[in-house]
Amino acid sequence: KEDLKGQTVAVVGLGKSGKAAARLALARGASVIGIDQNENLGLLEQDPFYVTRRHNELRTILGHFDWKLLKDVDVVVVSPGVPLENYGLSYLLQSGKRVMSELDFAAEVLPKTIRILAVTGTNGKSTVVTFAGQMLSHFGINNFVGGNLGNPLSEVAFQCLVLPPEKCKLKVAVVEVSSYQMEIPCLSFSPSVSVVLNLTPDHLERHKTMSSYAATKCRLFSHMTNTKLGLLSFGNQHLNEAIRKNLNKFNLAWIGAFPGVKIDMESQVASLEVPDIGVSSQLQLGGMKAIGKHNYYNAAVAALSVAGLDVGVDVKAINSTIETLRAPPHRMQIVCKDVHGITWVDDSKATNMEATYAGLMGLKGQKSVVLLGGLAKVSNEQALNGFEQLIEPLNSHRCVITFGSSGTMIHDALSNNGLRIPCFQASNLKDAVNHAKKIAKHGDAIVLSPGCASFDEFRNFEHRGMVFQELALSSY
Ligand code: ADP
Repeated sequence: KEDLKGQTVAVVGLGKSGKAAARLALARGASVIGIDQNENLGLLEQDPFYVTRRHNELRTILGHFDWKLLKDVDVVVVSPGVPLENYGLSYLLQSGKRVMSELDFAAEVLPKTIRILAVTGTNGKSTVVTFAGQMLSHFGINNFVGGNLGNPLSEVAFQCLVLPPEKCKLKVAVVEVSSYQMEIPCLSFSPSVSVVLNLTPDHLERHKTMSSYAATKCRLFSHMTNTKLGLLSFGNQHLNEAIRKNLNKFNLAWIGAFPGVKIDMESQVASLEVPDIGVSSQLQLGGMKAIGKHNYYNAAVAALSVAGLDVGVDVKAINSTIETLRAPPHRMQIVCKDVHGITWVDDSKATNMEATYAGLMGLKGQKSVVLLGGLAKVSNEQALNGFEQLIEPLNSHRCVITFGSSGTMIHDALSNNGLRIPCFQASNLKDAVNHAKKIAKHGDAIVLSPGCASFDEFRNFEHRGMVFQELALSSY
């Protein structure tokens, strides 16, 4: 079990993933140095979590540190939040040092009997992994849903390592993978089913270009020794280029073409056809409760992925789960219907325009006051404030209220380019909500689908969503 005994592991970045990796490293018998540039974090040594696992040395370095220290350790585990250009990490990697992602570090010790379903893409990752987990649970298949969402993979690897084998009943790990987690090529993380859902401009402050963003996402296909199925968004030029370099021996299927999954929106039926893995079935999506047609794709992709895992669940059986699927919070989540007959919808997770677009399309027929704003992303600016693409779906609604640091930019982009409904500007989310309450009519919805990051006003999108929900509930 203690495969790293006598070795030193440096964990760079002590967020949730880094802390879990540090704990796993201790359980694997290593001495650990935890590093983070944030001086205000607590020391790992003082955390009772770690003290219990401490047969060996543990040290935390916060704030500035001499990165040459990393040259002397055996393994460097890099948290997703730390870009490779920091601390000479890419230099160390190139010079042959064992520099690995938290994902790969966890996968090294994850029992090989556990099948992995990995999902990446710009939008819909959390929803698809959540749906897949719900489908598996419905059939009594013990699964972990985590990674970039919820608990890190190191957490589950730790559990499997310290629990007696008969207690570890896990059959499937459904892992949400962000592009940040794939900057370092994986050697051990080898999913049975890998999915790249879609790719639109996002996170370009870190990946710089769309082709490097696509290449990072498609790394998911590059080490697929166990792979049964790779699912890829059809017709995306950047993904097509990236996948050519990664093609391996696995069955490639498409989201939006055959072999793969296609959806007839009119009849609300998904056809799933992948002869190589024996799938030829239909999924009836009409009964879905999750809002928005994009969720038809999310459900169909989750179904095909679960079928591809070969754990005894086929698409036909999955039909019985469709009505029970629930998207995670802050994704077109209905918060309440208030005493004035107004429905409040929290789509705080819509941090880019495509997500907001998908949300607005899901609201067809429901007149809404739409709240847009927050911190615009580099990709917004590169797309020359592509908020214009929202004008068409917005035009059928009641009004738009912009807020936050990009409020003026969005207001101007919409107003100067053909928005036909009123567009107001508020300074922050609370003002926007107060304004919305005055305008919304009985039967309308007030929808927070901001199309921007939240960091100008909030800790993260969850915080923004919770504040919105509190404001909604206080209007009862
Ligand atoms: P991610 O984990 O990739 O950020 P989420 O499932 O959390 O994706 O959804 C993020 C946002 O994108 C939400 O606002 C959601 O309504 C929207 N969304 C979900 N699935 C899709 C999709 N397939 N295409 C476009 N937008 C989507």
